[in-house]
Amino acid sequence: MKLILLGPPGAGKGTQAANLINSLNIPHISTGDIFRANIKNETELGKEVKSYLDEGRLVPDELTTRVVWDRLDQEDCKDGFLLDGFPRTIPQAEALKQGLVERGLKLDRVINVDVEKDVLVKRLAGRRVCKNCGATYHVAGKPTKVEGICDVCNSEVIQRDDDKEETVLNRIEVYENQTKPLIDYYTEEGLILTVDGTKPIDELSGEILDALK
Ligand code: ADP
Ligand code: ADP
Ligand code: ZN
Repeated sequence: MKLILLGPPGAGKGTQAANLINSLNIPHISTGDIFRANIKNETELGKEVKSYLDEGRLVPDELTTRVVWDRLDQEDCKDGFLLDGFPRTIPQAEALKQGLVERGLKLDRVINVDVEKDVLVKRLAGRRVCKNCGATYHVAGKPTKVEGICDVCNSEVIQRDDDKEETVLNRIEVYENQTKPLIDYYTEEGLILTVDGTKPIDELSGEILDALK
């Protein structure tokens, strides 16, 4: 299965990905996670992308596409992958398509997680993530069992810098302008599966898995 999770920031892409990969047995590839790991480890890539993430702007297409192909060309992606947060622009989608064609591969489905703006703002404001393992929580909707401590690995959970209010609005606007056109793009390719991202987390995962059968 070669899948893409598409949707605005806060739609629940990462949350769904964490559920889906257990059943689908494919690697979860999140460009946001890759960038954040590189920033944390102060790599060259991390230094290059930090200001974009801080400001909620998109990392340039060429650099992002290169990072994604470095990952997709690894052995564990041979039988499939779940892309989360890539592509985010038409040029990225074109570059993905071209790379797949060159490798004799094609996408199976693009899961479009639909959530309206008001809900997104509340979700991002309340999102908390584990510093260590990246597990995602919400202060109201999906709290940790012990306040401030990750259920999975007992590390500290924090708010992402780019989940502060002004950056959030920026990111939603970037989505509207640059990423939303991908819904039409993948509809034309006959790949879109639109799901209601306001459903409860596990119910939605079940619905996606059924649709993929
Ligand atoms: P969210 O899950 O809230 O949508 P991500 O973790 O996917 O956020 O992305 C965080 C940030 O990483 C983005 O605001 C952007 O700066 C950068 N980023 C992630 N994916 C891409 C991409 N495909 N193209 C450009 N920038 C990206
Ligand atoms: P994305 O990766 O699309 O930016 P996340 O998966 O990080 O989104 O989810 C954003 C926030 O919304 C998190 O705090 C998460 O716990 C919460 N969330 C995700 N899916 C749902 C859902 N179906 N219902 C309620 N809250 C959700
Ligand atoms: Zn953790």
